[in-house]
Amino acid sequence: MELNVVGLLREVNAVVDVDIKAPVESFEYLGENIRFDGDVELVGKLSRVRSKYYRLDGEVEASVVLVCGKCMGDYVCKISFPVELHFAQEQKAIDNDVDMYYTDGDVIYLDEAVQTNAIMNIPAKRECSDDCKGMCPVCGINLNIECCDCDKGEEESPIDSRFAALKDFFEK
Ligand SMILES: [Zn+2]
Ligand SMILES: [Zn+2]
Repeated sequence: MELNVVGLLREVNAVVDVDIKAPVESFEYLGENIRFDGDVELVGKLSRVRSKYYRLDGEVEASVVLVCGKCMGDYVCKISFPVELHFAQEQKAIDNDVDMYYTDGDVIYLDEAVQTNAIMNIPAKRECSDDCKGMCPVCGINLNIECCDCDKGEEESPIDSRFAALKDFFEK
């Protein structure tokens, strides 16, 4: 995701509306690979604070692909969050009082800023749905997708008890 500022804001203090829909690279977070599902949308206002200093205030909407902690299957989670981003176009424009991204030239690259902010808005509890059936403890199959015949230590199935009755019959 990028934003070309050439000709957008000629004067200091000028403000323009931005509405960007673009892909954002997947990223690693605590050993997990987090991928965006489809384009990420950023709607907001870009202002020119000083000649080489831009500020972007907006709202991000994205879908991220996460791994469910119960069934280990992928699922898509929609997230949205506000952003306040600061970009310096030259090293000396960097203001140490705010978190700033350095941008070399007229194109502001937004992937890193979107990723960093997305991390704080990804739910800590990873569950594909409220009624996720989880994973079979014996064979590891995702029980939302497939069934298995593993003995999970539950009560006897009707077929087993019928077989037992038959066995009793022959033993008499
Ligand atoms: Zn699940
Ligand atoms: Zn199983």
